[in-house]
Amino acid sequence: MSDNQTYDLFVIGGGINGCGIARDAAGRGFTVMLAEKDDLASGTSSSSTKLIHGGLRYLEHYEFRLVREALMEREVLWRMAPHIIWPMRFILPHQKGLRPAWLLRLGLFLYDHLGGRKLLPPTRVLDLRSDPAGGPLKPGFSKAFEYSDCWVNDARLVALNARDAADRGAEIRTRTKVVDARREDGSWTISIENCLTGQVQTVRARLLINAAGPWVDGVLRSAIGENDASNVRLVQGSHIVVRRKFEDERAYFFQNRDERIIFAIPYERDFTLIGTTDHDFGGEPDDTEISDGEIAYLCNAASEYFAEPVTRDDVVWTYSGVRPLFDDGASAAQEATRDYVLVEDGGAEEALLINIFGGKITTYRRLSESVLEKVEKRLGARKARWTAHAILPGGDFETGGFDRLLGDLMEQYAFLAKEHAYRLLRLYGTRAASILGDARRLEDLGTCFGSDLYAAEVDYLVENEWAVTADDIVWRRTKRGLQLSDEQIATLAAYLQTSKSEALKAV
Ligand code: FAD
Repeated sequence: MSDNQTYDLFVIGGGINGCGIARDAAGRGFTVMLAEKDDLASGTSSSSTKLIHGGLRYLEHYEFRLVREALMEREVLWRMAPHIIWPMRFILPHQKGLRPAWLLRLGLFLYDHLGGRKLLPPTRVLDLRSDPAGGPLKPGFSKAFEYSDCWVNDARLVALNARDAADRGAEIRTRTKVVDARREDGSWTISIENCLTGQVQTVRARLLINAAGPWVDGVLRSAIGENDASNVRLVQGSHIVVRRKFEDERAYFFQNRDERIIFAIPYERDFTLIGTTDHDFGGEPDDTEISDGEIAYLCNAASEYFAEPVTRDDVVWTYSGVRPLFDDGASAAQEATRDYVLVEDGGAEEALLINIFGGKITTYRRLSESVLEKVEKRLGARKARWTAHAILPGGDFETGGFDRLLGDLMEQYAFLAKEHAYRLLRLYGTRAASILGDARRLEDLGTCFGSDLYAAEVDYLVENEWAVTADDIVWRRTKRGLQLSDEQIATLAAYLQTSKSEALKAV
């Protein structure tokens, strides 16, 4: 699109909501630009517990609409991206003195039946004295419930939505900050700053979407001039990653004495992910970091259940994010609604602004459809809804077909270790072949930066998925950061710097 043309939509924020909206809109024939001030998924969308779930505990807060919509999305999203989303079973031990067994059974009955479950297996009752799930737990737990939800690689879900949006014509600009947006002659004039060069450019759009997550009020105040915007309640949640605590491929759902819950989830083959905390956050969203108190809380909560305690020394990595919840006035952080709220701003004659508050990774596709309904009311409909049955890049295989795909890839690239082939397929699905190309041996994949991260994969991410820095690659597009040393990450950073300068020279 040339500089003086006007986009239909301008989206602020490259998290799951912004990228989901850009993809849906581009697929319906709207012209779209999306600006992300940092990397894709660098905000909340890479800091989640990584579950596509109805949210069992939201039933306690009577959030039936949200739970039903989220439950229904599980199988829709699994079909859409079976490489990065897959079913997971959760073990919920009954703990004497906490929620009674009849209440857990009732909640899980609703969970099984509210949301059109077709493929995911139903809840069952376990005897932890004989089931292997009881092995890692303290003696004394005898009964548990095992139920279904799905796992998602959250940061990749964002990158794949952005990739698909761009393939459908959207313009995705990362490292691009919206610094000003004002209404002029019936449309928006938006100033965007290239965060790498400092250059400022102006673009025009008929409609503006503020999907800045925890920064949504900040954007309203600093870029749009609503000085007293105060709509979101920032609620911090942190996770710890420890060396693998149990062999089972099922995850645990533990109730705590403070009525909260935590998950312990098999993670990146060698690790266990434990989280999350849930408390009000008063700082700037750019500065979220786990506190010592949160680490202690998570270690203690998990140690109530595991026979071998979780200690601070076990922690190999942590991450922390803030939920941008709509401020519904709830007294406790964990009671604030997890549902999304869309607020329109602008009369019939004015250019429209849609602000997005709250939401879950799980419901991003439905949120995008709701936004598009509002867009179409204003700009007119061009094409029908389409995302419920459309596949994300690399996900074009049967939901149950992963093992066959793995076998095929290992046959085609016999030099790949099984873990390497598995990792590539879990990240890139059928597009793994674009990374491997006509390689015949490992050396054909170029420099090895450590573990099984080769230049061929890094180059693919730079060329196709907007990766710029070493962090983009080792913490968001992949989680190789868990396996690489600081020195190896520095070598990767130097490689990226050199390729960037060569690319600039070639221009
Ligand atoms: P973000 O991902 O934060 O995206 C907003 C983006 O806007 C950021 O990348 C930011 O850099 C960009 N931005 C800000 N200002 C500007 C500007 N001026 N110009 C350009 N760009 C800008 N949901 C689930 O479904 N399942 C879970 O298991 C789950 N677990 C969670 C656990 C925790 C601890 C937390 C915090 C959340 C969890 N969630 C979960 C909720 C989910 O992660 C969030 O609802 C979702 O990621 C929000 O996405 P977003 O796109 O609105 O925000």
